[in-house]
Amino acid sequence: MTTSKYWNKRICGLSPYIAGEQPKTCGIIKLNTNENPYPPSPQVLQAIKNADTNRLRLYPDPACTKLRNAVAQKYNVGIENVFAGNGSDEVLAFSFGAFFESFDFCPQRADDNVAPILFPDITYSFYPVYAKLFNIPYKKIPLNDQFCIDTNHYNISCGGIIFPNPNAPTGIALTAKEIVDLAKNKKDNVVIVDEAYNGFGGESVVPYLQDNPNLLVVQTMSKNASLAGMRVGYAIGSAELIEALCRIRDSFNSYTVDMIAQEAATAAIMSSTYYNEINAKIICTRERLYAEIKALAWTVLPSKSNFLFMKPEPQSHFSSRCRNSDGHIYADKIPAVKLFNKLKENNIFVRHFNNERINDYLRVSIGTDEQIDKFLEVCKKAQSL
Ligand SMILES: *Cc1c(COP(=O)(O)O)cnc(C)c1O
Repeated sequence: MTTSKYWNKRICGLSPYIAGEQPKTCGIIKLNTNENPYPPSPQVLQAIKNADTNRLRLYPDPACTKLRNAVAQKYNVGIENVFAGNGSDEVLAFSFGAFFESFDFCPQRADDNVAPILFPDITYSFYPVYAKLFNIPYKKIPLNDQFCIDTNHYNISCGGIIFPNPNAPTGIALTAKEIVDLAKNKKDNVVIVDEAYNGFGGESVVPYLQDNPNLLVVQTMSKNASLAGMRVGYAIGSAELIEALCRIRDSFNSYTVDMIAQEAATAAIMSSTYYNEINAKIICTRERLYAEIKALAWTVLPSKSNFLFMKPEPQSHFSSRCRNSDGHIYADKIPAVKLFNKLKENNIFVRHFNNERINDYLRVSIGTDEQIDKFLEVCKKAQSL
């Protein structure tokens, strides 16, 4: 359905985010939504078991005090510098509503009345969705030829800036210095750094928040803490930014994080030894896969996240000469969509984006070594003649 007489104009104009598939069948290898292949820490499981279910009758702590305290301690900031929400998607949505100017408050609604916010042309596809929901004008800044964000291109008049670091779906990271320099140049704008893939080798800008009151970091427990099903995310920033997020939340739903999620997330924040270990394992698997994909003569981008972005197509000068380890000659071309379907036939799910600059790429989440071996097996078979 694209419209209904009961819908208001705002809803008619939306094109909602399309989430990666969550297949119901078991036995599949799920490498399509960047979930962590390893379970949550034993402390998290214990916290869920120990949760006092008699308290479910009561509303949870709307301020998420315990969880925010744990985050504040871990990052050496004050509790007034931390906001917790129902997944970082919610925190991001609140941030759009709190920090970016909308046409709604502008009498003439002309494009040049409100400075557009900036984000990369290839990035998390929820950003344009939030912008449209809140009626915020935006401008996409193209990634360079190497698919990198060039922060110099963001030094223009704007209504705010948002990007993930590392970027998605490329996996390529900026250094903290590049981001902090940008924030210092854009003191009148809020710069939001979506650190959804923090913990997989990229640099966080959290240590620089104190000197940069316009910088907001958003992190999630979905990827590096194996808790995508729990829905917990948080923001770290100056007290004035955090208070704005509370104002939005309390104009929408005061109890966004449920009691069990608060307990589990607190335990996750406190089990960094466990998480450092599993995420180091993911980094190892990623580097191994990177080398194997390179050996197939495919393009693959250098990633500091728990996925690799790759173009399943050997360079043409390789196609007639290169042999893989079985002695098979590489096929000429394997378009991404063909491989996507081939993988699916083998119960392996990866992500393909129908965006002109990247539609010959696949994004592959880093699973266990065993899952990645099965993925590679299908790739090599699909490529051999
Ligand atoms: C996964 C992801 C999120 C959303 O995380 P949730 O906390 O699960 O809502 C936000 N931003 C980016 C870039 C992501 O990849």
